[in-house]
Amino acid sequence: MTISDTFDAVHPVNDRYTPPQTGELDQIAAVFTDGRLSGGAPVLAEYERALADWFGVRRAVAVNSGSSAIHAAFVALDVRPGDEVLVPATAPIPTALPILTCGAIPVIVDTGPGSLALHAADLKAKITARTKAAISLPLWGYPVDDADAATVLAEAGVPLIEDACQAHGTRIRGQYAGTRYRAGCFSTHDRKLLSTGEGGFVLTDDLELADRIDHYTHLGHLKGTQHGVNYKLAAPLAAIGLTRLRELHTQLQQRRDNAHQILAGLPRDGSILAELPYAKGDEPNYYNLVLTTRPDKAEATATAFAAAGLPPDSSRYRYKPLYHQPIFAQYATPCPNAEQLTATTIQLPVHPGMTPSALRWVTDRTHALAEGQP
Ligand SMILES: *Cc1c(COP(=O)(O)O)cnc(C)c1O
Repeated sequence: MTISDTFDAVHPVNDRYTPPQTGELDQIAAVFTDGRLSGGAPVLAEYERALADWFGVRRAVAVNSGSSAIHAAFVALDVRPGDEVLVPATAPIPTALPILTCGAIPVIVDTGPGSLALHAADLKAKITARTKAAISLPLWGYPVDDADAATVLAEAGVPLIEDACQAHGTRIRGQYAGTRYRAGCFSTHDRKLLSTGEGGFVLTDDLELADRIDHYTHLGHLKGTQHGVNYKLAAPLAAIGLTRLRELHTQLQQRRDNAHQILAGLPRDGSILAELPYAKGDEPNYYNLVLTTRPDKAEATATAFAAAGLPPDSSRYRYKPLYHQPIFAQYATPCPNAEQLTATTIQLPVHPGMTPSALRWVTDRTHALAEGQP
């Protein structure tokens, strides 16, 4: 037996997915032949068109990171110093840092019970005259049902954006995550489903908003009339994205197949584990397979997964509600649902690079732990 066939805490399943090469180097070579490597090269327009078509939206603006995408969306929505932005307590650090980049104030909102969606009543209580925007977050690529929150926000005239940085291909109520509200922000960092190494993009059907984002991220098009930053994506990275986008449907199918293999044998009765719930007809992209465990078993279950070399985010990244991070501590507010959700979720790798034996091992370990076996 080779090392790669033996899995435990010392030889864990590789959770890093490296997509097979499918012509990236040829596409980069074409960029070199053209000679223009900057974010102004023709391949950028081609990449943005391909993204807009894939997701079925009117415009995509490519930028150099997901953080840049979120920041640029806020600026285009006129989020200014002292303004308030509503953010779910389940948000990881990179979702909320762009609020601080604007000099704005993160207003942390609890999630619904057992859900990643913004809690509509808590949200409503936290809207003020200074509220400029709100964030919906399909974390781990899981569908979020933010319909109630979206209604409250629409009534208050507050724009909602999606941080879909982990949600390429996630389906919610027949639409792709990141295409449902004013703007969808994506990352193409190496750990995401579509990777260009570093990078990101914003999707929107609002052409005026797209123009403002494009203007801001391209130094105000050097007109000297308005402030701008340089968030352009370099041409070789756009070439990688253009090539890999063609494989995204295949990757999504493989992730779903892997997730379903693990879920298939999961005991239904008496199990201490179940998949994080979502509405019928919706589809996670399986950035991770996410299981929830009973609160009374949460700590022991997380410890058991960690001991098996499958550490959940709570132990691996010390993932907790946002206000547990020192930089956001001053914005703390009671969020009991988010506290419970972050403590009771287990994230498992299901990427297409997993070998059959790795997948079988994760399946066997998960089923044993679901039955309460060590
Ligand atoms: C990755 C990520 C970001 C930031 O994207 P970068 O490209 O790393 O700047 C923001 N939000 C979420 C949820 C992410 O997963």
